[in-house]
Amino acid sequence: GSKGAPVEYLTVAEAYRDLEAVSGRLALIDRLATLVEQTPDKLLPVVCYLCQGQIAPEFAGIDLGLAEKMAIRALAAATGAEVTQVAARVREIGDLGQAAELLLAAEDRAASLEVAEVVRTLHAIAAAEGTGSQGRKLELMSRLLGRATPLEARYLLRLVTGNLRLGIGTPTILDALARVHAGGKAGRPVLERAYNICCDLGKVAATLVSGGLEAVAELKVQPGNPVRSMLAQRLAQAPEILAKLGGECSAEYKYDGVRVQAHRTADGHIELYTRRLETISDQFPDVVEMLAAGLGPREAICEGEVVAYDAASGELRPFGEVMLRRRKHGIDQAVKDVPVGMFCFDLLYADGEDLTRLPYPERRARLTAALTLSPRLRMTDAAEVTDADVLEARFAQALDYGCEGLMCKSVGPDSGYKAGARGWQWIKLKRDYRSELSDTVDLAVVGAFAGRGRRTGLYGAVLLAAYDADADLFRAVTKCGAGFTDADLVSLSERLKPFEAAGKPARVDARQSPDVWFEPGLVLEILSAELTLSPNYTAAWGQVEDDSGLAMRFPRFTGRWRDDKSAEDATTTRELIELFLGARRTPAGG
Ligand code: ATP
Repeated sequence: GSKGAPVEYLTVAEAYRDLEAVSGRLALIDRLATLVEQTPDKLLPVVCYLCQGQIAPEFAGIDLGLAEKMAIRALAAATGAEVTQVAARVREIGDLGQAAELLLAAEDRAASLEVAEVVRTLHAIAAAEGTGSQGRKLELMSRLLGRATPLEARYLLRLVTGNLRLGIGTPTILDALARVHAGGKAGRPVLERAYNICCDLGKVAATLVSGGLEAVAELKVQPGNPVRSMLAQRLAQAPEILAKLGGECSAEYKYDGVRVQAHRTADGHIELYTRRLETISDQFPDVVEMLAAGLGPREAICEGEVVAYDAASGELRPFGEVMLRRRKHGIDQAVKDVPVGMFCFDLLYADGEDLTRLPYPERRARLTAALTLSPRLRMTDAAEVTDADVLEARFAQALDYGCEGLMCKSVGPDSGYKAGARGWQWIKLKRDYRSELSDTVDLAVVGAFAGRGRRTGLYGAVLLAAYDADADLFRAVTKCGAGFTDADLVSLSERLKPFEAAGKPARVDARQSPDVWFEPGLVLEILSAELTLSPNYTAAWGQVEDDSGLAMRFPRFTGRWRDDKSAEDATTTRELIELFLGARRTPAGG
């Protein structure tokens, strides 16, 4: 970290250029660390956002999203060329950023843009709305481009059109921060926890440079900053589950809906976040209302599952119904057509107190005390269980009631809320684990193969990858063409469009050669008969057996688009290993 000198945007653009060119986690960390070193403390937060391809934390929902057409007009205005000429050039080259770089190459311009003013202008572009806003955005953008060097223009345009594809994820940026400002690897877990409880890399960086690692370790959850969800492992057998949880657990019904994290800030405002950090209060005004009435603490963060629910009969409705809320435009009508209930299961914060380090039984007690229940604001059904047969019986009850199964939660001293972690404190038991076709997994699409016959003009199959969280890479695990209806295939093409990549993306590890590559972004739910060892797929390579990865037999799309998941939320290669080893232990039908 250097002193207070301004940083040229060119420094960032050069880092982008280098990051795009190198591959391999270590080389990426090296290059990022150099950028971090070059960045004065005050600017570190925005430089972190810029490395994430953003100008603010993700959950702030700031939409730079300048349409390509508009970006082309800005570029034309900045270069004095005709819009049609610029558009033709972009088509010819196939990439807006590169086209800009070439168009500006002739102009011999010295770097003059500073990071701070670039970010300020980008905020102004994002904030412009209402009449005349398009013209305003255009003007601001063309002024920036008018002063940019070719390299800067290339990345400015990619950033504002949402196409900055650097191939680095947040974990890699955390590595670089740890290296430069936290004494190396030892500080990494502290930074990671801090990021997981606030989802704001800028905040973590600012705290780190101002107060050191101790200050970062003391960061608390804070209403207004979404907390990354605690996740569950899975097991198929009641005795195994109890054994893992030390002989006793709280067996909660597992409701099939949308996970919601509700925040009430000191100003009384209630915001609902999904697991992907999107705000969805607009889709669930009734949930906001019932929380406003039923949530005791002035400031709070609580979690629950929002499910389509008929309060009069006490009946749960299928998952598909609650998703209608997310599609429909007339939200007033949707609120009437699809009544929902919220089944609360955790309390992370109440009136100044960070509760995440408390064991589960205490959090549950605090949650019970914090809520005034109503017909549609409920607690999840929970019961302490110490006996495998009782657990089995409860599983059957949960299914009867219309739930997906059970969430078995540790009640031990280590049962604090582990943000962003998939540990053995929560273990899920679901019906699909028992079927012949074992488990569903959620996989990221990284490539597609052109369809033939009836599927000509559409994709016939996709290449799917699991997330290797340790390496921050997406590793291929199967090709899948089954389970897609004709309508699904049309939708598939549309959904994949924004993720198209010119070649194999930096974060993808695969040996296949699909017709089109995609940046990991679209997640599909896949059902498969079996996991097998394979020399062709790179998921969990060498981790179960030398020179083999894991692959799937008879994979099929279940029809469920996991729009609620980001690529990093896809099933991990570690989970695949667990599944593979688990299946070996319990032969089919066991
Ligand atoms: P995962 O969340 O594990 O990545 P997923 O999104 O496919 O996978 P499931 O495997 O079905 O979800 O299980 C986890 C989800 O179950 C939670 O994220 C939450 O939305 C939901 N859920 C339902 N009931 C409960 C409960 N009682 N406690 C915790 N989570 C619950």
